[in-house]
Amino acid sequence: MVSPTQHPPSGIKVLIVGAGFGGITAAIECHNKGHQVIVLEAFPELKILGDVISLGPNAGRIIERWGNGSVARELLPITHNNKELVMHRFDGPVVTRTPVTGLKFGSPAFNGHRGELHRCFFRFAQQEGIDIRLNSRVVEYWEEPDKAGVVLESGEGLEADVVVGADGVKSKARQLVLGYDDKPRSSGYAIWRTWFTSEELAKDPLTKFFSAEDTHHGWIGPEVHFLAASLKGGKDVSWVCTHKDEKDIEESYQFPGKIEDVLKVVGDWDPVVVSLVKHTPEKNMVDWKLVYRDPLPTWISKGARICILGDAAHPFLPTSIQGASQAMEDGVVLACALFSAGKSRVPLGVRAYERIRYERCRRAQLMGESTRDKWHKADFDNLMSSEENMRAMDLPHPPWLFWHDAEKHTLDVFPEVAKDIESGKFGTDEIGFQTSVLRRENGKIVVGNRSFEEPSGEELVQVLVKEQVTAAL
Ligand SMILES: Cc1cc2nc3c(=O)[nH]c(=O)nc-3n(C[C@H](O)[C@H](O)[C@H](O)COP(=O)(O)OP(=O)(O)OC[C@H]3O[C@@H](n4cnc5c(N)ncnc54)[C@H](O)[C@@H]3O)c2cc1C
Repeated sequence: MVSPTQHPPSGIKVLIVGAGFGGITAAIECHNKGHQVIVLEAFPELKILGDVISLGPNAGRIIERWGNGSVARELLPITHNNKELVMHRFDGPVVTRTPVTGLKFGSPAFNGHRGELHRCFFRFAQQEGIDIRLNSRVVEYWEEPDKAGVVLESGEGLEADVVVGADGVKSKARQLVLGYDDKPRSSGYAIWRTWFTSEELAKDPLTKFFSAEDTHHGWIGPEVHFLAASLKGGKDVSWVCTHKDEKDIEESYQFPGKIEDVLKVVGDWDPVVVSLVKHTPEKNMVDWKLVYRDPLPTWISKGARICILGDAAHPFLPTSIQGASQAMEDGVVLACALFSAGKSRVPLGVRAYERIRYERCRRAQLMGESTRDKWHKADFDNLMSSEENMRAMDLPHPPWLFWHDAEKHTLDVFPEVAKDIESGKFGTDEIGFQTSVLRRENGKIVVGNRSFEEPSGEELVQVLVKEQVTAAL
């Protein structure tokens, strides 16, 4: 059981495309709220893929409720159990020590191997009896006024009251929702990332400390930062290095990483970093292009029977440390909004999901950019000259982000959000962290933090004004 209250059947059928952190969370939470769920995942089998991923206390709050704490207990031995993040200047001196949040925000954070954490989520969903269909690639989406559906590669068709595209950065669902293909662009940065066991590090006096216990160290330099962690008592080690990369990306965004390329960037840094890189098995390294998307104008289809969530709706930079957590919050909010709306008002539930999530999510996304920029563009010559300069490099721990209870918040604000949507009210409402998706200010249309002249040549605005906004404005 997800939480002490397993709700009776709501009669709402939900098809979820993608079994990543966003899709699986949406499935578990919808199941708990009494909705009938089918998850469609393209992968033919569950594999332990990826490397390090972080789930903040706002995600920990969700996980703690699953199985009366059983999932949280399963995660503890395989996640990071360190005391502080020690930040260094690129050449070695310690800039600042940020204590881990512990239970300061009421729930634990879980940082560990993406594949290992994901396996716990996946198994829990299976134990809950959720229908997860692997080897089920969705190739087509459609919607009608009272239902929506998908077509699988096999030709099989499925329909439901609502279809959720939790299909990641290369989302197909997004095309249907937007009415055009929104291509990602390079963020100007890429990240080398890796995960390996610490035997070789233990033999080197410079890197031995990583193998002795759980640790977390970071190094910041001009346009580059390097974060390294050891966990499981020092048995496993992971590091990531974000660096400038101006290459354009097309479809593929992940390539094999090369040690020699990393050393071209950090070869004259703190000898600890250099040794760590040299002891890394190259076969475990990837060079991951950090794609960027401007905030999408909408996450829901015209008829509000299809929505997107997680990376499909909002890719995050790693420095926000919130990509998976925000995908999880999406799943919770959608499940609760559908629950509050009820079977007869499914589109209202979907619209409320978007309104409740959009601005909060954008705020978390922007944090990734500001943290990256403060680390990459610091005044490195004067960094150590004052306590204030040093503390400014701390990883931010904003209470608005970490104290948030996505379930409680949605159930609390739904009636007011629903009233606004039904009455066509747009733009002025701010309920908790929720504001409207679009608003009109000084003769301009404002989407997130971007504004457009009206009329404008932008296809985006045309789509919005024609298809969605006219009535509401
Ligand atoms: C294999 C993999 C490894 C990753 N490794 C890391 C990592 O090491 N560190 C990190 O920070 N982040 C990693 N990520 C990204 C991270 O999981 C997400 O940024 C975040 O958790 C948000 O999750 P999501 O559910 O929105 O998207 P994702 O985790 O990307 O999940 C999307 C899911 O949708 C499925 N899918 C896509 N298209 C279709 C389709 N047409 N039909 C059916 N299913 C489809 C995909 O197979 C995937 O399982 C990884 C993602 C993947 C898929």
